[in-house]
Amino acid sequence: MSDVFSKQRRSEVMSRIRGKGNEKTEVRLAKLLREAGIKSWRRHQPIPGRPDFSFRKQKVAVFVDGCFWHGCPRCFRLPKQNRAFWKAKIEGNRKRDRSVKGRLRRLGWKVIRIRECRLKHADRIVAKIRQAIG
Ligand SMILES: [Zn+2]
Repeated sequence: MSDVFSKQRRSEVMSRIRGKGNEKTEVRLAKLLREAGIKSWRRHQPIPGRPDFSFRKQKVAVFVDGCFWHGCPRCFRLPKQNRAFWKAKIEGNRKRDRSVKGRLRRLGWKVIRIRECRLKHADRIVAKIRQAIG
């Protein structure tokens, strides 16, 4: 029985590795923004961290974080296999997130990070972005 679970878990992890970044969550946020009539954002502009979305004029960078890759405190579960590898990997990602945030702030950017699991609270996300871009 436990083998069944670890197999399932392994394939979940593998599909995350194969999946192209967080394309799906980005598409969801793009849809929310469009529905809210928020325009003027660009994707993957060449500024530190290549934010998923950015508003150049207002200097607001928005990142959509996959709960697994960014170690979401609510959702992240360390895979059973290769724990040391995954722990180091995710900690490295979080460290990079913090460093990107610092670099952007020093350049005068406001940084908004949205976790994948929060995307269901569309109103709150839209309000937050609206407020940031004034
Ligand atoms: Zn989460």
